[in-house]
Amino acid sequence: MRKHSLLITGGTVIFPEQNKAEKLNIAISDGKIAAMGVCTPDAVCVIDADGLYISPGFIDSHIHDEEADGGEGIEKALLRQGVTTAIAGNCGCGPLAENILPFRQNPWLNLGYLTGHTKLREAAGVTDIYAAAGEKEIEQMKLLLDKELEGGSFGVSIGLEYLPNTSLQEIEALLEVVARFENRWVPIHIRKDGPKAVDAVDEVLDLAEKWPVRIQLSHLGSMAGFGQLGKVLEHIENAKSKGADVTFDCYPYSAFCTHLGSAVFDPGFEERWGKGLESLEIASGPYRGKRLSEEDLYNRLRKEDPETFIVAHVIKQDEVELCLSHPDCAVASDGALLEGHGHPRAAGTFPRAIRMLVDKGVSWPEAIRKCTSLPANMNWLGKGVIKEGADADLVIFDGDRLKDNATFADDLLPPDGIEWVIIGGIPAVRGKEILGGAKGRLLSRRLHSFCDYCYPMHDINCC
Ligand SMILES: [Zn+2]
Repeated sequence: MRKHSLLITGGTVIFPEQNKAEKLNIAISDGKIAAMGVCTPDAVCVIDADGLYISPGFIDSHIHDEEADGGEGIEKALLRQGVTTAIAGNCGCGPLAENILPFRQNPWLNLGYLTGHTKLREAAGVTDIYAAAGEKEIEQMKLLLDKELEGGSFGVSIGLEYLPNTSLQEIEALLEVVARFENRWVPIHIRKDGPKAVDAVDEVLDLAEKWPVRIQLSHLGSMAGFGQLGKVLEHIENAKSKGADVTFDCYPYSAFCTHLGSAVFDPGFEERWGKGLESLEIASGPYRGKRLSEEDLYNRLRKEDPETFIVAHVIKQDEVELCLSHPDCAVASDGALLEGHGHPRAAGTFPRAIRMLVDKGVSWPEAIRKCTSLPANMNWLGKGVIKEGADADLVIFDGDRLKDNATFADDLLPPDGIEWVIIGGIPAVRGKEILGGAKGRLLSRRLHSFCDYCYPMHDINCC
């Protein structure tokens, strides 16, 4: 029998779906898990994982890679924290296929894309973010979305807070197109955060009850973490009991981050959040680290540099923890960088969320499930588990040392405790160092349905 390419010995393997962990060796061949057991078959390389956990690679279903560097910065930050697969193009920002393919052929992690509603609108000629699209433009968007989904897009993302006057008719037109396809996802950044988040969630839940599509409530903690979370979770459970296919995610921080020029910062935000300009920190550009209350920076930057990233320290920590602890809540980073900087979630989300959950008494397999099989299942990815034949995307980590290090001041510091990250059977990170070149693949929903990710059975047995 030929040698395996990699053997990982002595680690405690986490099985998120079975809520158990077991000491087993893992043999890898051809990018897949070839065998698991207690013996030690021949392999070209061996990793000693004694004393460490072995988890499926983390799956981040909400990232942004709109940064002009081709996504390299954000992908590397995510990779160092153990993310092996990510879904980009959220909150309406996802590019059209013609803008993905030339630039994203060799990602640092496995990368799927959503088509952005905002980009569909722009292509249909609606560039005013406060405008409602007309009949003709909606028809054009439908045709375009159909083409994108046909081409392998993972679904359509919608950022209602950024396009506040989007009509229900416009959203439903998109859902009608999505419903023609199998396994496509509709993540929605709801219309309002703060006190109106309950109504904004209800708007989406009504759509999920009406249309046969899976809708994701994106970064729910940052939308409803102002005292509305308990109610919102109740409404979600209620809608699900009536058959709505709804999923949601959260990142483990009490601050969000977005562009200053967006409608999020239109007058009235202080009342919504019960916090003023001193809670808003500049996260990109020459004023990074300053608060918006200084030097009339709110007015100046909103006019002169509306792209500027603002970190808003306005969310209630206990609400974030309530959201994250819900068994249906996936961990997702919402990671984004601008000119190489942003919110520490890009580099710290997964270790921080796992640590938070485990410290609250959640079991390791359950905490890991929220970072792996749960988000994988949300997206029909066929990843996020460890079993023979599964893709060998793995994280090997030290449970005692696992801890995020990124802060608002030093936003890209890699976490402690992530010892190895393996993509498709090849080590991609050792310690905090990225090894060699990019090892990810550009994922397409079409490929997924037919061949590439369908877990072919292997005939290699170990024990
Ligand atoms: Zn968003």
